[in-house]
Amino acid sequence: MENLVLKKLVIFGVGLIGGSVASALKKAGCVTEIVGVGRSNESLQTAIDLNVIDSATSNIAEAISHADIVLIAAPVAQTPLIFASIKPYLDTNTIVTDAGSTKSDVMACAKEILGDKFSQFVGGHPIAGAEKSGVTAAKADLYLNKNVVLTPNHSTSAHAVQRVRELWQLCGANVTEMSAETHDSIFAAVSHLPHLLAFALVDDIASRSNAEQLFGFAASGFRDFTRIAGSHPEMWRDISLANKTALLNEITAYQNELSRLKQMLENSDGDALHALFERASTARNNWAKLKEQ
Ligand code: NAD
Repeated sequence: MENLVLKKLVIFGVGLIGGSVASALKKAGCVTEIVGVGRSNESLQTAIDLNVIDSATSNIAEAISHADIVLIAAPVAQTPLIFASIKPYLDTNTIVTDAGSTKSDVMACAKEILGDKFSQFVGGHPIAGAEKSGVTAAKADLYLNKNVVLTPNHSTSAHAVQRVRELWQLCGANVTEMSAETHDSIFAAVSHLPHLLAFALVDDIASRSNAEQLFGFAASGFRDFTRIAGSHPEMWRDISLANKTALLNEITAYQNELSRLKQMLENSDGDALHALFERASTARNNWAKLKEQ
């Protein structure tokens, strides 16, 4: 890998994800200047105090002037507003990328808003994170040995893809490319649906009259299943709405599976229950072994 040396990186949204990219690149010593643009002056000041970024500004023209790469790491619903704000000042040499958890919506709005500069945009999604948010949760090693998916299409500049690939590799990540549609259907199944299930279960328990008693006796199984229900509400609202079609398909598939399970219980069909649990247990253990390697 050619050593990516960035003179100027601009990050819109210096939270967990953007802050961790900044910290990783600073640690790798391959960036001269990191400028943050955000919604909250207080959190940008914290990012400066923590030496995650070098400076912050609300002047977009000044922020992106002579930038090598602009990384958008704000909640996905903010992405169209950010594209619109940078478009008038975007230099032809500046590459734009994002870290949003959904990709079809981002690619479509990049095409619409960036117009003749769409080839400079590379959609991206780091498969790393936490239920914590904000720059104080940022970590230089967040992306170490984690996957990052890039979703270029036929219009995307090959040079831009290569530069964004190198950026993530310097953060320690393994980079894969796929279409935005494939990305969204995969992550609806293995990330977005599990988050919705965790939120739904906790909300249901919390709304019962004996919630205190239920939470009082909930133990490690409940904690493991619901850890992700502690995630950021705004982020998950945006992801759910942005990936609505794929997510609705997954909810239907899950409802069908639950109905089959319910039927097995109603029929007291121990053999069917055992067979289902055995298949799932084997698949889960195989997956865990693979992830440990
Ligand atoms: P976060 O809340 O930690 O950080 C988001 C930051 O964006 C905050 O500092 C917020 O003030 C700022 N922001 C909000 N609106 C903005 C705007 N209009 N312009 C500039 N900044 C703005 O959230 P995060 O976990 O870092 O998530 C950021 C993005 O990364 C989201 O799109 C999310 O889908 C994606 N992502 C998150 C995870 C995860 O596990 N947290 C994993 C992969 C991808």
